[in-house]
Amino acid sequence: IKDSYGKRYAWYDDSMRATMLEQQEILNEMEFALKDGQFVPYFQPQYNYENGNLIGAEALVRWEHPRKGAILPCKFIPLFERNGFISRMDEYMWEQVCILLENWRDEGLPLVPISVNVSRRDIYNPHLVENILNLLHKYNLSHELLHLEITESAYTQNAEQLVNTVNLLRKHGLEVHMDDFGSGYSSLNMLQNVPVDILKLDMRFLGNDYKNERSGNVLNAVVRMATALRLPVLAEGVETKEQADFLKSIGCLLMQGYFFSRPIKVENFEALLKNKQTN
Ligand code: C2E
Ligand code: CA
Ligand code: CA
Ligand code: CA
Repeated sequence: IKDSYGKRYAWYDDSMRATMLEQQEILNEMEFALKDGQFVPYFQPQYNYENGNLIGAEALVRWEHPRKGAILPCKFIPLFERNGFISRMDEYMWEQVCILLENWRDEGLPLVPISVNVSRRDIYNPHLVENILNLLHKYNLSHELLHLEITESAYTQNAEQLVNTVNLLRKHGLEVHMDDFGSGYSSLNMLQNVPVDILKLDMRFLGNDYKNERSGNVLNAVVRMATALRLPVLAEGVETKEQADFLKSIGCLLMQGYFFSRPIKVENFEALLKNKQTN
């Protein structure tokens, strides 16, 4: 018995050690990676499912590691949120997006707004709004071109600071989208008081449940309530035509998800913009 316990602990120690080493490696390498340009935006297109128009895209970070290849955000974002590095990575991402928007404009491509993710940590930065406005000014971009995604759960903590920041951003003509709507605790009731331009409803929180009548009704009710409050809903994580058709049938036309496209490299997204031009 003693022996098998010994082994279990040894195994536990090993896997713990591996995770800790991996995390330590990420923390050791993040500064260099930022300077070295290893954090790159991928773009996931967003569509109006009624007319097929490309209406925008979400910029999602990938760490293009020289040895490990593309690393997904779930491996490093939680660490960066804990040690605060997220704020520098986010600002870097926003600037990369602004640089690309400037290039596309200079190339004469038709532009669509790009949504960037704003971590809950960023909200506490007193210079957040100023920094974003400076970026838009630096690249001479109109404020409608950058959409800011703030996760729903941020709305439930320190609501006052968040509401002030969001109000200020919107006053300057920036759209704010509530990310991951339906994942947490916010009630539809809260929507009356919360300043936001679009609700992003993640279909993955519902799984295949929307097929069952009750959940389908809930989804339907959410979209109807949002519509009554004049809040457009963008469904994300749409994986099948069946889901897309159902969403359309309940009046939710804005969509993003693997059914349309995975997040793609910048070159491929540029090809989509060029294609939009010739259509
Ligand atoms: P999110 O903001 O909710 O982004 C949507 C995630 O769902 C992305 O994962 C995207 O690749 C994935 N996705 C999109 N369509 C589908 C689908 O049809 N099916 C499934 N199963 N998944 C889909 P990703 O790129 O791995 O990003 C994960 C999370 O990391 C994001 O969730 C966001 O919270 C965070 N994140 C990504 N980039 C950034 C960033 O630049 N800054 C910050 N602060 N967070 C970021
Ligand atoms: Ca220029
Ligand atoms: Ca997002
Ligand atoms: Ca989301």
